[in-house]
Amino acid sequence: MKLSRRDVLKFGTALTATVFAGQSSAADIKNEANPKKKANPAPLPKAQGPRVVVVGGGWSGLSVAKYTKLFAPSADVVLVEQKEIFISCPLSNQWLVDKVDLEFLTHDYLKAARNHKYTYFHATVTGADKENSILHTSQGDIPYDHLVLAPGIEYDYSFWTDDVALENRLRQEYPPAFRPGSEHLTLKEKIKNFKEGIFLMTVPGGNYRCLPAPYERACLVADYFKQKKLKAKILLLDENNDIPIKEHGFHTAIDELYKDYIILESSTQIESIDLDQKIVKTEFDEYHFDDASFYPRVRGGKLLEIAGVAKDSIYNRLEGDINVETYEVHGYPNIYISGDARPMGFSKSGNTSLTEGQNVARLIAAKINKQPKPQWTSPITICVSAVSAYPERGIFIHSEYAYDKKTQKFSFATPVTNEIWKGERGIKNAKMIQGWAKSCYQDFFGK
Ligand SMILES: Cc1cc2nc3c(=O)[nH]c(=O)nc-3n(C[C@H](O)[C@H](O)[C@H](O)COP(=O)(O)OP(=O)(O)OC[C@H]3O[C@@H](n4cnc5c(N)ncnc54)[C@H](O)[C@@H]3O)c2cc1C
Repeated sequence: MKLSRRDVLKFGTALTATVFAGQSSAADIKNEANPKKKANPAPLPKAQGPRVVVVGGGWSGLSVAKYTKLFAPSADVVLVEQKEIFISCPLSNQWLVDKVDLEFLTHDYLKAARNHKYTYFHATVTGADKENSILHTSQGDIPYDHLVLAPGIEYDYSFWTDDVALENRLRQEYPPAFRPGSEHLTLKEKIKNFKEGIFLMTVPGGNYRCLPAPYERACLVADYFKQKKLKAKILLLDENNDIPIKEHGFHTAIDELYKDYIILESSTQIESIDLDQKIVKTEFDEYHFDDASFYPRVRGGKLLEIAGVAKDSIYNRLEGDINVETYEVHGYPNIYISGDARPMGFSKSGNTSLTEGQNVARLIAAKINKQPKPQWTSPITICVSAVSAYPERGIFIHSEYAYDKKTQKFSFATPVTNEIWKGERGIKNAKMIQGWAKSCYQDFFGK
């Protein structure tokens, strides 16, 4: 049975989990090796120790690869990534408005691997024989002792439409730019070429990638329009009842800096999108736009289905089917899932993925080093958002998570926020943004 977005919204968030639990999930997809299939080894030397294969060279995978080798030097670590170059999503909103250049965001996988003594293997994962611990890739098969899947997110347009042609047009013509690469380049071109009228952006519901990023983007692009004195407005159609994070900072910035540039419409559920007429209908209203970037709900990366380890979570469809304390896939304790594809309600952010990656590396290293299993440790969410680029001003949050063993639920432990963007404080906050990013890039790629 396929549930429409309308069905899900009708039952409410709490019930969503129950409804989804009954659905057949991609975990049902069989993924056994074909016994007749000829051996197709990947061109990798024989493992020199327990082989740990990490799939996905994003914020989580880079961290797991580096720290596993650091904590368990006997491990033979291989990072499998389908892209040839790393491009950062964090700070990409600043790049959209020319505050940092592309060089700041792009980094070298070979350098990361050299500096941290693991192997970067450029390939796409196409399947997993979980019974025999063999990973299938576009460049051949890799046997593993431990396998970490960190594929990030996939967009989930099913809450808006079942029409594949419409979904395809949304992807091609109005990309969300919440995954790095061509989508960002297209969005930047749109912003640069925008002359006047309504530029539509959307904020999804569920636990989407980087809670503050759509509001940060709206503020920075509004600032850009303001500097250019364009007769342009950003229409932010937000599925959430209120801004879910740093709400004081963003609300005051929108009210005081961008009153004439941002229209924020909260609790809006998109009912239909007409790309020819450039009209979006919600339950109560109809909105016209001149250009747009549609950010739909998210789910875990397709790799989870390819590997047969996906399950609906209480937040999104198809996320990692893992024990939330040990990151181990149910039934396969040598396979782990980390980063934005996890089912826990952590903020889907880079710093969360980086610190979680260290925790996952500790768990794997303890097994390799034959040490006791480490206690569950919270990942750390540190997130600085810019609210203006001219001058640069920012707001800030730092939080960890509390875990309730009985209910197996996580909640934000007391967050430390600084949402004042006026005066010295805002400028200080903004200065942290590039410093934080540089220190992360140094951690992943430098010595
Ligand atoms: C605009 C924007 C701004 C943001 N700002 C911030 C911020 O200020 N601070 C912050 O902390 N976070 C921020 N984030 C969030 C952050 O980018 C993500 O949370 C983070 O990238 C998640 O890391 P990940 O490793 O789970 O996924 P990703 O970084 O997306 O990495 C997944 C990797 O897996 C690879 N992959 C997937 N499938 C396969 C396959 N089959 N075979 C091989 N490789 C595969 C992909 O190519 C990709 O490289 C921002 C995000 C966006 C979009």
